[in-house]
Formats: sequence, C-alpha cells, structure tokens
Amino acid sequence: MSKPELSPAAIECATRVEAFVRTKIAPYEHDPRCGAHGPSEELVHEMRGLAREAGLMTPHIRDDGGHFSHQETALILRKSGLSPLGPVAVNTAAPDEGNMYLLGKVGSPELKEKFLKPLVEGRARSAFFMTEPASENGAGSDPSMMRTTAQRDGNQWVINGRKAFITGAEGAKVGIVMAKSEDGACMFLVDLPNPAIKIERVLDTIDSSMPGGHAVISIDNLRVAPEHMLGESGEGFKYAQIRLAPARLTHCMRWHGACTRAHEIAVAYACKRQAFGKPLIDHEGVGFLLAQNLIDLKHTELMIDWCAQVLDSGELGTAESSMTKTHVAETLFQIADRCVQVMGGTGVSQDTIVEQVFRELRAFRIYDGPTEVHKWSLAKKLKREFKG
Ligand SMILES: Cc1cc2nc3c(=O)[nH]c(=O)nc-3n(C[C@H](O)[C@H](O)[C@H](O)COP(=O)(O)OP(=O)(O)OC[C@H]3O[C@@H](n4cnc5c(N)ncnc54)[C@H](O)[C@@H]3O)c2cc1C
Repeated sequence: MSKPELSPAAIECATRVEAFVRTKIAPYEHDPRCGAHGPSEELVHEMRGLAREAGLMTPHIRDDGGHFSHQETALILRKSGLSPLGPVAVNTAAPDEGNMYLLGKVGSPELKEKFLKPLVEGRARSAFFMTEPASENGAGSDPSMMRTTAQRDGNQWVINGRKAFITGAEGAKVGIVMAKSEDGACMFLVDLPNPAIKIERVLDTIDSSMPGGHAVISIDNLRVAPEHMLGESGEGFKYAQIRLAPARLTHCMRWHGACTRAHEIAVAYACKRQAFGKPLIDHEGVGFLLAQNLIDLKHTELMIDWCAQVLDSGELGTAESSMTKTHVAETLFQIADRCVQVMGGTGVSQDTIVEQVFRELRAFRIYDGPTEVHKWSLAKKLKREFKG
C-alpha cells in the first residue's frame, strides 16, 4: 500500500488542534468540574467557546459538510486526544463523532438539517441507544438479542424497552434509538430530552471522560414519526455497520493521542526522578519499558493509518477494523499500564492524567466490541475462507 497522502489543509488543521489542546484545554484537566461522570455541561460549554473562537469546532468536518479522509482524520483526532478533554472540547468525541458520520452518510436532507446541523455546530450532544441490560439478557456483545420493540400504530412508530450504558444520554439533545420491528432492526432519530425516555440512573464506571457518563434508560411508549426512521424498517443493522468500522477506528485515534501524552509525562518523570544514584530512565528496567512504549505507539499509529487507508479505498473494512480495534485497545492499555508503573505512586494518583488514561483504556477494551468478540469474528472468517 502506498504512503498516506495528507493534504496541507489537514496537516495545518492537526497542527492547530495540537497547539490548542496542549495550551488551552490541558490546563482544565484539574478543573473541579471534571467529575466522575465526565466534564460538566458548564465546562463543556466553556471549552467549546474557546474552540469556536479558535476556529477549531468539529475540525475533521469541513465547511462544505464534507469530511477529511479517514487518514487525515486519524492525524487530526490523534491530536485532539492529547488531553482526555480535547475531543469533547473540539467536538471529535464519541458518540457524537460516530453519530455525525452516520447522519452525514445516510440522513435525508431534512434529518440532516434538524439533527446533524446542531451536532456539527457543537451546540448539541447526542447518544446512541443500542445496548440493553445484561440482567434482562438484552443486546450486548450480540446485538441480535435486542429486546426493545418498535410497532406501527397508525402513522407512527411506538417504541418500548430498556437500554444500558448509553453514553451521554444525560444532557443529550439528539438520540439514535435502535429497536426491532417485525422486519428486523430499525434506527430512529429522536429529540431529547423526551418524556417517554427516562434516565433511571447514571452508572458509576471506571472511566470518566465522557460528558453525561453512561446511563440506564427506560423507553415507555415513545412515539416517532415515520420520517424520523433512518432508512427502511429492518435495515438498522446495515446502518449500524456503516457507523461501526469508522467509529471503532476514531476511538483508536483519540486514545492513541491520550497514550502519547501519558508516555510524554512518564518520560519526563523518568528523566527527572532519581533513584539509586541516577535518573530512573538510566535503569535498564525503566528505560526498556519506555522504549517498548515508543515501539508500541508507532506500531499502533501505523495500524490505525493502514485501516484508515482501507476505509478511504471505499471498502467497509470490517475485518481490518476488528484487527485494529483489538490490537490498538490491548496495546494502548499496556502502554498506559507501563506509564503508571514507571511513575510509581504518582502514576496511580490524580496528579497527572496518566491514571485516567489507564482507566479509560480499560473500558475501551470492552466497548465498540470486546476484544474476544472481534477475535471470534476473525476466527469465523478464517474458517469460512479455509479451503482444505
Ligand atoms: C464505557 C462504555 C460506554 C458504552 N457506551 C455505549 C453507548 O453509548 N451505546 C450503546 O449502545 N452501548 C454502549 N456501551 C455498551 C457496549 O457496547 C457493551 O458493553 C459491549 O457491547 C459488550 O456488551 P455487554 O456489556 O452486554 O457484555 P456481554 O455481552 O455480557 O459480554 C461479556 C463478555 O463476554 C465475552 N464474549 C461475548 N461474546 C463472546 C464471543 N463470541 N466469544 C468470546 N467471548 C465473548 C467478552 O469477553 C465480553 O466482554 C458502552 C460500554 C461501555 C463499557
């Protein structure tokens, strides 16, 4: 495969995003408004004001509504991830980024005007409602287990069910709800908040970067107009596929940026901190940990770029994104773990973002497909292709 072609506009954009995140957003990392369920709405608003002033709101989507290529997006999103607050500040964060991508690809002009425009402008946040409570044996690793129903009633759809782990539902203005009709899975766009969609509770989870946290939701006789269905009844999983591979990859991009920064912090610690008569980095055990980080950061960067190239070629990239998501999530987690270790007690304290990056990466090994599910689907592909 040829070397990635990056436009001067993308390179310039990434350079500006990096400077903005490092100088204007990283200082907020110790702001008391960074809570266990993500940065507060007030903090998000404040940071987005700065991004808007700097001309960096939603930097991966161009003024004409077109996206930079996946390879260019990789560069820009890695820079936005240099602080756990960066993606929210410049509007490259999950789940909005994936939802904007999906709406941009398959939304009608009316749906784009109503639901996509406020998202791209950073005036609204969104939530994607697919997973259901494990206690009820609903959709999880296996989305075909979906129990939420969509039934026609006259000219409307009526949706009932419960959802779990819905990132950002608290505070979101736009929802993409998945439910099953008699034809199969469907996707609906809904205005939030909505009296038929109740937040039962926001879960206390290991991670803390995403505004609104992750909520358990009940949906009780939610009425949706037919024009707010995305595509056709029964085609929901087809549309989920369009979102899936790019959204997996953009998580890899953002968390690669966060790990790069955690590594920089660990290197600085190891160069300054002395033990047994010399800087930590001069002890081979520590130096090798950091050298391995450098190798793994480059390796994961190349894998992200490879998968982005596959998507840019117009392929769905299902297997490639499974390989990349699995390898990048597992490897970035190891990098974050080494950063914690090199920094001793400071590594597990909240004095730096290193401990947060470690926690975030632990969760990333589960969402957008747990590692084992991706490996299982790759093994199925191997069996299908076996010609012996
Ligand atoms: C931080 C976070 C944010 C999330 N945000 C959202 C969101 O915004 N919207 C949304 O809809 N969902 C969201 N999710 C849910 C996420 O997509 C699910 O957690 C994920 O799909 C796994 O489903 P589950 O939790 O029900 O685990 P289960 O399905 O119960 O699986 C548990 C474990 O079983 C193993 N396993 C499952 N299948 C296989 C297999 N075939 N082979 C081998 N092992 C297997 C895996 O190790 C897996 O981790 C989020 C989750 C987290 C943790």
